[in-house]
Amino acid sequence: MLPSSIPFNHSTVVGREYAYIQQAMGSGQIAGDRDFSRKCQSLLERELGVHRALVTTSCTHALEMAALLLDLQPGDEVIVPSFTFVSSANAFALRGAKPVFCDVRPDTLNLDEAKLPLHVTPRTRAVVPVHYAGVACEMDVIGALAKQHGLVMVEDNAHGLFGKYRGRWLGTLGAMATQSFHETKNITCGEGGALLVNDARFAERAEIIREKGTNRARFFRGQIDKYSWVDIGSSYVMSDVLAAFLYGQLEVWREVQARRRKIWERYDAELSNWCDGHGVRRPVVPPHCEQAYHMYYLLMPDLTARTALIAHLQKRGILAVFHYLPLHLSEFARQWGGRPGDCPVAETVSDQLLRLPFFYSMSEEQQSRVIDAVISFAL
Ligand SMILES: *Cc1c(COP(=O)(O)O)cnc(C)c1O
Repeated sequence: MLPSSIPFNHSTVVGREYAYIQQAMGSGQIAGDRDFSRKCQSLLERELGVHRALVTTSCTHALEMAALLLDLQPGDEVIVPSFTFVSSANAFALRGAKPVFCDVRPDTLNLDEAKLPLHVTPRTRAVVPVHYAGVACEMDVIGALAKQHGLVMVEDNAHGLFGKYRGRWLGTLGAMATQSFHETKNITCGEGGALLVNDARFAERAEIIREKGTNRARFFRGQIDKYSWVDIGSSYVMSDVLAAFLYGQLEVWREVQARRRKIWERYDAELSNWCDGHGVRRPVVPPHCEQAYHMYYLLMPDLTARTALIAHLQKRGILAVFHYLPLHLSEFARQWGGRPGDCPVAETVSDQLLRLPFFYSMSEEQQSRVIDAVISFAL
């Protein structure tokens, strides 16, 4: 019999998700901003110490809310790393702003703070650090530059929930931060997200934008006796059914992170000899960063080696995948004049990076199979 295949990712129940969904359904109130949404928000506010947490339909939507809160005008510029998910840039492009792509550091693959000043112009309004793989960007340097030029810092913290930078939680360092609870992330409800508001000046308007441009949140709190249309906005509220699922996961976040840490550390320990002997680079985690254990990746010597290793693993029933294509070279970004060579590190690592299967319910036996398969690859 062939061994069963090992997926790249697999979502699992980790806590009381079913019981909570049942409870939400039973309450007869399953739209947004009900008990479980509030529970998720208080948990995030309490654990991270953020001023306001608002659960949303996705991280993409939380980024769109951030773009709306910035009142971006056509021609305004927002600096984003080239090596990130489309939404980090698209949310701002949707408001007519121009995404300006910055290269990433060769070690952490995060926004390169040394190259950042080269991209600041009088039209720059914001900078979006993405904590790749849950390892923090150099937030002190980026923060100082943002302050100097009056830029708003929006952390795309889709990978970094419960990671830290110099002892401070990721998601609490920008004026705003966005979280993803998509099925591929550490904590999930299938599709979902959150906007974390650290700069209190954005809090009230964030509620309004999330509620279709109405002051419904204040009405719910009894602060006004009817609610009306007061601003632009859209429908970014998460259903309480999903919030119930999410709360089941959030409540046991320490167990989830501890398990992921174990898997990550085992990969790193057992693959180190093979990597060192074959010119394969393992993830770099600076000592002042407590990472969020979002993924385990390898940087292969080149595209040919990466393609061959993916095929080698596939033959053994193991799904390994690559990651972001440099955004500055995407079809859509051509309008802003992106050219090969603009972000050389992003262009190189995009060809080299391979992500190994990594999920909460991965068994020791499954992980052994992945490790053995990698080590048996003749590079
Ligand atoms: C997953 C991800 C997103 C988008 O998250 P959704 O919740 O699917 O919208 C945005 N940015 C980064 C860096 C991501 O990894």
